[in-house]
Amino acid sequence: MKKLAGHIRDYIKGRCSPDEVFQVETIGRLIDGDFSGSMAYGEVMKHGDFGLGTFVDLDGEMAAVDGKFWHFGPGGHGTPVSPETQTPFAVVKFFKPDITFHLDGPCTMEELEAAVDKHLPVKEQLCAVRAKGRFRSAHFRVVLRQDEPSTLAQAAKQQSEQDMEELDGQLVGFRFPGDSAPVEVPGYHLHLIAAGGRIGGHFHGGTMEDLTVEIDLSEHLHLAAHDGLARLEAGASQKTRDDIEAAERGRKS
Ligand SMILES: [Zn+2]
Repeated sequence: MKKLAGHIRDYIKGRCSPDEVFQVETIGRLIDGDFSGSMAYGEVMKHGDFGLGTFVDLDGEMAAVDGKFWHFGPGGHGTPVSPETQTPFAVVKFFKPDITFHLDGPCTMEELEAAVDKHLPVKEQLCAVRAKGRFRSAHFRVVLRQDEPSTLAQAAKQQSEQDMEELDGQLVGFRFPGDSAPVEVPGYHLHLIAAGGRIGGHFHGGTMEDLTVEIDLSEHLHLAAHDGLARLEAGASQKTRDDIEAAERGRKS
C-alpha cells in the first residue's frame, strides 16, 4: 500500500475537514500536457489560505499566504489572482502551524529541508511548510504560457529563470511522501513570495538566514481529481519520474 494512498480522500464538493491538504488535479496531468482549467481559484480559496499552483496553459506560478493569492508571471513579477481565474493544478491548506523553529543560517534549501525533516514526528509526514526570513540569494523560475501543445517537462525548458539577491520573503509549500508520483511531486515543493508579493516563483534554491520555520502537519489529502487514485495505483514510470524531477528541480543554466 502506498503511503500517499492511505492519505487520499476523494473530493466531495462542499465537504472538507479543517486540517486537510486540498489539491486540484495531479502533477501527472501536467506531465501529460493537459493544462486546461479544472476549477476557479475562487473555489480553491474556500479550501485554503496558503499554497501553490499554476494557471491555464502554464501561464505562470501561483503562491498563496495569509489568504493572499499571487500570480507570478514573466520576470517573476506578481499580481493578485482574481477569483474567476481557472487552475489546472493547485495545492492549498488552511495554514495552522504545529511546529515552529528558528534557523539562524546562512543555510541552503537542502539544509532547510533537512532541518524540517528532523522536526517531523513521522518520517515522510505529509505537511505544509512556511519559512520566512532573509534571502541573501534566491534562484527561482516562472513557467511561461504554452501556446502550442506541450508537456510540463518541455515547458520547463523555456522557463523564465531569475537570480536575485537581498530579498525579504518567505517560502510556502508542501512535503509529500516519496511515493507520491504521479499524483504529486515527491518530497519538497516550495514557491517564493518576496517583496510583499511583487516578486516570486517556483523556488530552486538560494542562501537564507534568520528564518522562522513553521510546519503544519496534515493527516490527509482531499483530492479533486477523478483519476487521482487510479493514477496513484498505476504508479509512475521511470520516464514520468524523470520528467517530474526535470520539470520541478531542473534549471536551464
Ligand atoms: Zn512549483
